[in-house]
Amino acid sequence: MDQTTAAHASEPLAFTDRESGVLCPRCRVATRFADLFGTKVVACQQCAGFLAQGDEFRYLVETLRQQYRGPDTLSGPLDANQLQYGCECPACFATMDTHAYAGPGAVVIDSCPNCKLVWLDCGELIRIKRAPGRRRR
Ligand SMILES: [Zn+2]
Ligand SMILES: [Zn+2]
Repeated sequence: MDQTTAAHASEPLAFTDRESGVLCPRCRVATRFADLFGTKVVACQQCAGFLAQGDEFRYLVETLRQQYRGPDTLSGPLDANQLQYGCECPACFATMDTHAYAGPGAVVIDSCPNCKLVWLDCGELIRIKRAPGRRRR
């Protein structure tokens, strides 16, 4: 159905006008609080990446994968170049762990072990949602 757009799908972030006080680790611009599927995240209007608490990220992944009724979509192999990025945690400025997400979707995520924050680039959550694999606990 939307096969052509599948690779470029982005999350439906609903931005508020409240600035979060942290900078986007990719673009270095101010980020804002945003709502994503009812969960509060901090997101960048420029690159549409977002920052979530680890628990909220897991909740989003679980909920979205359970609700998803579309076709399983393999998003291609992991892009090894992405593992080189490395970015700074916007909250504590430690270097974030850049690693392959352990779940479905072949995506690379950045997480801060100090703050338990996860940074997702635009479209990564959608890739996780659509990837084949277990959908229920
Ligand atoms: Zn950005
Ligand atoms: Zn941190």
